This record gives sequence, structure tokens and C-alpha cells, in this order.
Amino acid sequence: MRLATAEINLTALSYNLKQIKVLAPGTRVMAVLKANAYGHGLVKIAQHLNDADAFAVARIDEALALRAGGLTKPIVLLEGFFNRADLPILIANNFEAIIHDENQLRAIETSQLDARLSVWLKIDTGMHRLGIEPEQFEAFYQRLKACDNVDPKIKLMTHFSCADDVHSTQTQVQIAAFERLVQSKPEAKCLANSAGVIGWPQSHGDWIRPGLMMYGVSPMINQVGTEHGLKPVMRLKTRVIAVKSLAAGEKVGYGGRWHSKQQTQLAIVAMGYGDGYPRNARDGTPVVIRGKRYGIVGAVSMDMITVDIGCNPDGISVGDEVEMWGPALPVEEVAACAGTIPYELLCNITPRVSYDYL
Ligand code: PLP
Repeated sequence: MRLATAEINLTALSYNLKQIKVLAPGTRVMAVLKANAYGHGLVKIAQHLNDADAFAVARIDEALALRAGGLTKPIVLLEGFFNRADLPILIANNFEAIIHDENQLRAIETSQLDARLSVWLKIDTGMHRLGIEPEQFEAFYQRLKACDNVDPKIKLMTHFSCADDVHSTQTQVQIAAFERLVQSKPEAKCLANSAGVIGWPQSHGDWIRPGLMMYGVSPMINQVGTEHGLKPVMRLKTRVIAVKSLAAGEKVGYGGRWHSKQQTQLAIVAMGYGDGYPRNARDGTPVVIRGKRYGIVGAVSMDMITVDIGCNPDGISVGDEVEMWGPALPVEEVAACAGTIPYELLCNITPRVSYDYL
């Protein structure tokens, strides 16, 4: 039995999808499953999302893994494609491509394809990552329309840079820029990521693209998923592998970063950066043992962390289960203690961790 386990609660996943539909009624859902479904297991998660209308992944290999797993729903490639040679793969597997630059358009214009490619045209309204410039939009759209190897229903999308902050004016600027360009176009529109779904109902459009919130985690600054009616899907857990006493003034772990101010006890827990736990987690980052929170102390090692359990009133002992994040401890909170975002913690789970689907 492997000690570090990610318990994946599929009932919570279905629940979150229902909650998303309550927040954005009447929209179609493109479930974002990139990066191994944010560390939850690509095919297993997809198999459980019967009520999603489509899946979205970043790369072709992720989309092929979904088809190999028997998934037949439409799959959108968020990064599109890079080589002309990819186009037959897209057609053969019924993948939809996001088109965001001139090279892709030229490749399509000069390729013979066995069927019409379904495309999403991405407009850069202020993220300044992928997407065509607003000034190029009309000409680009017309050139795509003129391609007889492209499905004439050219769907339209943009992506938000600051939707997690409801006080930022950027999202409203992006929505307005998008609407101004596409208002006369009859095709489907898609703007909202999770933060758009939660914080910007005016961005819901025809399709939404939730990722993080499906896994029960909040994309909004300083909030946790339960505040939006979501349930955490992942519970990362492991066990205590040793308990030891520590005299006052002793230093703990690599570099002796932390020292005890008084006599105490330490629980040594089988979880480290080799499992994906963040090495930057600061002293005091909580874990849950026997239903109570305790803080980690000293540097996170590859395989272990040390937890200060004080005088151990609850009798914590070897073999006790430790929750690193999950229903009892929001991953958003652990991420804040490590100076990062919950997305990174979820994606960083390593192959050493076993998965248990409930
Ligand atoms: N759409 C695009 C283009 C993305 O890159 C992402 C993820 O980063 C998403 C949607 C989903 O975002 P979130 O997980 O914040 O819902």
C-alpha cells in the first residue's frame, strides 16, 4: 500500500457540475480537463462528467488520451495546433481547434482535409497571451469563413486575465471589447472560466469553460470553494510514520530552519515535495490529524514533513491518517501558506501518489 493517496470524490465532482449549471443556467459546459484534470486523473474524471457538453484540454496528446479512454464527446484543444501535420489527427479524432494566429490560418488555407475542421476563433481582449488582435478580427473571421475545409459555424471566444478579482475593472473592459467585435456574429460565444462563472454573470454567453471550480476549489482571491457551494473533490492524505520528543531549543530538518521554544513532540509524516507537496510551505502550514489542525515545522523534505503536535494530548501515533488538504482543510489555504495558487498544488501531484476513486 502506498502511503500518499489522493482520494477523489466523484460524487462531489457531479455535485459541483450541477452547482455550475445553477450558477450559469442555460449555458453549455466545456469541462476543462488539462494537466491530468488538474491532477485528478484525466480519463476517470472525464468518464464521470456525463452532463458536460464538451471537454477542453491544452494539448493533442491529452485529447488523444481521452479518445483512447473511450470518451466520445467533442474535445476542444485550447492551444489549437502547431504543425500542419496535426490537422489530419484533428479531423480523424473529431477535435475542435482554437485558432489564434496567422500561421494556423495559413496552414488551414493551404491544406486538403477529409472533413471540415470545427474551430473556435480566439480574440485577445487583454490577456495578451493567445488570440488575435481585435483589429485583425473581421478579416481573420472572413478568411476562416472562406475556407471550405472549415465548419462555417466559427465559434468565438476570449479568455480573462483578472476575473478572480471582482474589484478589477479589467474583466468588464474585456467583456465590452469582445461584445463590440462579435455582436453581429450569429455563432456561439464563450468567455467565462471558473472566475467568470462565479463573479461575472454577464460573461456567461452560450458556453462556459470551468476548470478549477469543477474540482470544488475557488478561483476567487481569498475565498474557498465551499463559499460558492462547491465540494472539494480531492483529499490528499498520508500517514504518520514516527512520533518523537524534542527538547527545547532543538533545530528541526534540513538547514535547521525551525527550533522548538519548549519541549514538544513531532509527528513525522510521509509526504514531501517528491509527492507534490509544496517545498515552500511555511512553518505553521496546517495539516489535519485526528480531526484537529497542527502546523508543519522545518523545511519540507522530499519524502517527509515534520509536524509540531505539542504535548500530544490526543495520543497521535504511528499509522494515524493525516489530511494534507481536502474537506477538512481547503487546498486554497495550503496554497496561500506556500505562496502559490491551488491550481499549482493540484497539478503538481506526482506519480508516487496513488489514486483512490470514491
Ligand atoms: N479557458 C482557458 C483558455 C484556460 O486556459 C483555462 C485554464 O487556465 C480555463 C478556461 C479554465 O480556467 P479555470 O480553471 O480558472 O476555470
